[in-house]
Amino acid sequence: SDPVLEIRGLRVDYGLGDAAVHAVRDVDLTLHRGEVLGLAGESGSGKSTLAYGLTRLLPPPGVVSGGQVIYHPADGPPVDVLTLSPAQLRQFRWAETSIVFQGAMNSLNPVHKVSTQLLDVIKAHDPTSTAAGRLARARDLLRLVGIAADRLDSYPHQLSGGMRQRVMIAMALALEPQVVIMDEPTTALDVVMQRQILGQLAELRERLGFAVLFITHDLSLLVEFSDRIAIMYGGRIVEEAPAAQLYRQALHPYTEGLLHSFPALRGPRRELTGIPGSPPDLRAMPAGCAFHPRCPKAFDPCDKKVPVLGATDPDREVACWLHPVAAPVPR
Ligand code: ATP
Ligand code: SF4
Ligand code: MG
Repeated sequence: SDPVLEIRGLRVDYGLGDAAVHAVRDVDLTLHRGEVLGLAGESGSGKSTLAYGLTRLLPPPGVVSGGQVIYHPADGPPVDVLTLSPAQLRQFRWAETSIVFQGAMNSLNPVHKVSTQLLDVIKAHDPTSTAAGRLARARDLLRLVGIAADRLDSYPHQLSGGMRQRVMIAMALALEPQVVIMDEPTTALDVVMQRQILGQLAELRERLGFAVLFITHDLSLLVEFSDRIAIMYGGRIVEEAPAAQLYRQALHPYTEGLLHSFPALRGPRRELTGIPGSPPDLRAMPAGCAFHPRCPKAFDPCDKKVPVLGATDPDREVACWLHPVAAPVPR
């Protein structure tokens, strides 16, 4: 395996001291070069906090309180993103890892044409380029995401939501980053549009070779378009597996519940049972396994001891007492 981003023991809190809410708890997650890794979990499970934390875009009162985010550049030694200086971070953000955040399609500046915004990103990182060269690059980028080059002269309000989202993807790809992170809102974008966007990203990465971390509530989308899937619950990764394996046989009861929240994509029909109860309150987390109050399979140790994420085989990890693991995940 060839990691491009290794998240190790990452902890993110909102607030300090006794008032701190632990939104991301000891997360270990590896993104490999060129893969699409999907991250799913109910609202409030900490997905966006993880994305903001690892890119150091966390708004206050959010603080990264522990861990490492090791980034492996295409050439040169690995760096810990959490220790980069502000200047290094600016470089890192568009050129190495770019992010399209929840609601990003509304973050285009309404008073500037699409061309101005796209050209600015290119120019900021390549000040020696010629105007003609930048324009050609901007046209190529739009074409790449399926937007006619004459749309360069449009203002954001003249574009549909889907087009604005694709402009954001074009901007994210402008400097040929190795990692693209997408945090999809459930509400703003309908499922059809999310499908199109993830499908398009998966296709583009085939051609350009970047890796994608795609965050969504919609596990069915991830089963279809991602290579691997990580499931988050109460600030922790509770299961991680190749997409097909996770779909065929979930190990964690929470993952099973999520899979039974949408109709079967293929094979026999499944019962749509969903998951009873609601996500945990981070201020008053249940003892032991955070999922135990909702878990149909909870047994003796579950309400006392926190299960640690560990490998059941070289490709799969789970944090559940039903699946004892020989050793913690190797770091
Ligand atoms: P969604 O699917 O709704 O986007 P999410 O998985 O992205 O949810 P986060 O937005 O990361 O979840 O939130 C994780 C937890 O952190 C939630 O319980 C939330 O209430 C808490 N949280 C988020 N922002 C703050 C804040 N500014 N102050 C305190 N707690 C916060
Ligand atoms: Fe359910 Fe226990 Fe596994 Fe938690 S550890 S998911 S409560 S069986
Ligand atoms: Mg979110």
